[in-house]
Amino acid sequence: MFVFDQPSAMQQWSDTQRRAGHIVAFVPTMGALHDGHLALVADARRRADLVVVSIFVNPLQFDVRDDFARYPRPIDDDLHACRGAGVDAVYAPTADAMYPAGFQTHVQPGPLADVLEGAHRPGHFEGVTTVVTKLFGAVRPHVAVFGQKDFQQLAIIRRMTCDLDLGVEIIAHPTVRESDGLAMSSRNRRLLPAQREAAGCVSQALDLAVHRFNAGDRDAAALVQLANSHIDAEPLARREYMAMVDPDTLAPVEPAFERALLATAVWFDEVRLIDNVVLGI
Ligand code: AMP
Repeated sequence: MFVFDQPSAMQQWSDTQRRAGHIVAFVPTMGALHDGHLALVADARRRADLVVVSIFVNPLQFDVRDDFARYPRPIDDDLHACRGAGVDAVYAPTADAMYPAGFQTHVQPGPLADVLEGAHRPGHFEGVTTVVTKLFGAVRPHVAVFGQKDFQQLAIIRRMTCDLDLGVEIIAHPTVRESDGLAMSSRNRRLLPAQREAAGCVSQALDLAVHRFNAGDRDAAALVQLANSHIDAEPLARREYMAMVDPDTLAPVEPAFERALLATAVWFDEVRLIDNVVLGI
């Protein structure tokens, strides 16, 4: 497995592979790899000859300095996991290689970035679109796999890739969950045991709304309220938002909607978890 830390070395390798006729698939990550990431890698593997994983904790997309400083960075374990998953190359640039002195260009997302996570984390998605553009520029993949756990991120990246003619096929991979339903996340390892146990309430709340929706209820406010009350009954959980929107536009759902995204962010002390589910598929 190759490990590159400079964009030029990454580009050279990728260009050589492309010239040889190989299809290159890409899974961007911030490391602290778990089975959710590895499911994306396996998906990428099925779609291409070669798989590149990037590991970069992107300072531009953190709105809270502490969260960036405390983000786990077990690079040796991550490289081991990548080897085990048959990854061909890891791109793990240093912050200086990504943002050298003089760096000043940012990619500004459109209105998809103004709601949900974007409304609560100013600048977050501009950090994401900027870093993903740079990662695409270094890795030059044919196809890139993203998780539906970050549903809004996926929608924004799809839009950006189309709007800017980046020529990368974007694949969505379903959310991978723990046995109690908790969406896998690098942040889960920061939960204390009692918080970890309590965190199951997030996906349970979404499931309650799914069941009510499947039983025919189309009252968006009532479905949101049902999910809210489940989270609010958990003393260790502090709900930041719960919103039901159109999965394509991320605008509020129309009355008698047939599909909807129900998305939430919930704090457990200093750890912020997000989750979502699509109703009507
Ligand atoms: P991250 O390292 O958190 O930036 O995530 C890297 C990629 O893995 C993103 O496309 C995420 O959406 C995806 N991902 C993270 N957790 C999960 C999960 N539990 N299930 C599916 N994809 C995930």
